[in-house]
Amino acid sequence: MKNIRNFSIIAHIDHGKSTLSDRFIQICGGLTKREMSNQVLDSMDLEKERGITIKAQGVTIKYINQNNKTFYLNFIDTPGHVDFSYEVSRSLSACEGALLIVDACQGVEAQTLATCNMALNMNLVVIPILNKIDLPTANIQKTTKEIEDIIGISSKDIIKCSAKTGKGIIDVLNKIITDIPAPIGSLHTKLQALIIDSWFDNYLGVISLIRIKNGILKIKERIQIVSTKKNYFVNQMGIFTPKSKNKKILKCGEIGWITCGIKDITAFSVGDTITLYNNPTKKIISGFQKIKPKIFAGLFPVNTEQYEVFRTALGKLSLNDSALFYEPENSHALGFGFKCGFLGLLHMEIIQARLEREYNLNIIATSPTVIYEIETTNKNIIYLNNPSNLSKLQKIKEFREPIAECNILTPPKYIGKIINLCLKKRGIQKNITYYEHQVILKYEIPISEIIINFFDQLKSISSGYASLEYNFKYFKKTDIVCLNILINSEKIDALSLILHRDNIYRKSKKIVEKIKSLLPRQQFNISIQAALGNNIIASSTVKQLRKNVLSKCYGGDVSRKKKLLQKQKIGKKKMKKIGNIKIPKETFFSILSN
Ligand code: GDP
Ligand code: MG
Repeated sequence: MKNIRNFSIIAHIDHGKSTLSDRFIQICGGLTKREMSNQVLDSMDLEKERGITIKAQGVTIKYINQNNKTFYLNFIDTPGHVDFSYEVSRSLSACEGALLIVDACQGVEAQTLATCNMALNMNLVVIPILNKIDLPTANIQKTTKEIEDIIGISSKDIIKCSAKTGKGIIDVLNKIITDIPAPIGSLHTKLQALIIDSWFDNYLGVISLIRIKNGILKIKERIQIVSTKKNYFVNQMGIFTPKSKNKKILKCGEIGWITCGIKDITAFSVGDTITLYNNPTKKIISGFQKIKPKIFAGLFPVNTEQYEVFRTALGKLSLNDSALFYEPENSHALGFGFKCGFLGLLHMEIIQARLEREYNLNIIATSPTVIYEIETTNKNIIYLNNPSNLSKLQKIKEFREPIAECNILTPPKYIGKIINLCLKKRGIQKNITYYEHQVILKYEIPISEIIINFFDQLKSISSGYASLEYNFKYFKKTDIVCLNILINSEKIDALSLILHRDNIYRKSKKIVEKIKSLLPRQQFNISIQAALGNNIIASSTVKQLRKNVLSKCYGGDVSRKKKLLQKQKIGKKKMKKIGNIKIPKETFFSILSN
């Protein structure tokens, strides 16, 4: 155990976590040259394409230092995006230390601070690393100062490296050996292992990544899940190097995978404790809090015949994503679908992209909403995540909406604009701290305002320099209404929205205009109306037009005509027909986005 080090790599997005992981694997020889591709740990296609890490991954590598001593390093590459902070906390709970990567060009950003605090709160040793020093724009002095001032780590502890060129990586490895403590625990006490992650493999069934905190686990042994008392036989076990390598035993301090050949992922819930059936411990490892979805949206197949495929697909995706929530939902306009819960908009986007790509589904998403807490006059507490249900509620004493505590890091010159933006989003300032080159603004902002373009607007008014990190804080009394949308006098339930009462007139006007801009002209006039109860508060009309796509083609270019007709056909496929009106599927999701 003395020669084991368990650590996570944490950072703001794009500061170089995955690239550093690649270097470690390259130097410590887990893969041959041919197998080595960039960002080897980001195995999901979507991760590669977008260059982001979505799921935490655990890898064991062997490092032989200059004194010829062998060390086994278990490291977990974590996602940096604010939506996935949950994955970060569960990775950290399996480690004794964390490498905090800071991009020497960007400096300290919101997630640098957030993830670092998370690691310190869990009592991990944090090693600060200044990355990308090969770049001409790297500002080592300024970034070092920021790490000292904002994070509070002394500059003598900071290691400089380039994950790209490999410069300084050996120093990083040596620092890991000297600074991060070896795991503690006993080989001779009852087995206690933490489930860090579980996912579904088509051949092996459920695979779980586990960290052994105490005792030893051998292949073929019968294990018990402490919380459920259910028991299973371990079929296979091993480690990732990052190639999967079978082993017969995992010992105290180690991180590895096990599989019991079962199909039910809920049996191996992330955060649960595993022990031995014949010699069980009752002690649960205090892991991390289970996270609840922050935003909800209805997802519906465009083609209703795809409902069963859709259900299966969601089931499979949720196997590998414990943060994905879903339950059946029925919409008058869109038919059968599911109300799904996500950690944030990026999470939602990724799930939708995976459904469309991996399962060939064509999905309509409604605009996302947060969850509201409602107290009734007889003191019952109800949670509401579906706008259409608002009107059915009775005897309401008080509506409450979720409020987030936001930390915004920015260079001082953008403060004015950012404060204005926060005001517009109903934010309440809690604190401002000035540092030499940066300011940290602390705000309380309703989550419903954050999910509508807040991040994009923040980036655009600060030329990309401001960064944001937020966390649910509490439910606060609010005044909300349900805005209904009528198209040719028919209420389209899937377009209903919950909005704050302030500015409702201005907003409904915008929403109506947005729908107008999205609806194609059809063979008749289409009226669009926004209503509060029976009161129409905004309206607009899409004028009729007989669209003849061929009118542009004078002369007889047949292939061009065919192409245009083909294009129109594709265009048609993405429409949803409601009554006799065709609505582009993007409409449902994008009405809020302006
Ligand atoms: P992550 O989001 O923290 O995992 O960041 P990535 O490892 O995906 O890196 C983000 C981008 O920065 C990629 O384009 C990398 O090639 C680049 N990058 C990472 N480390 C370095 C470095 O040391 N020098 C340079 N020049 N680029 C780097
Ligand atoms: Mg990454």
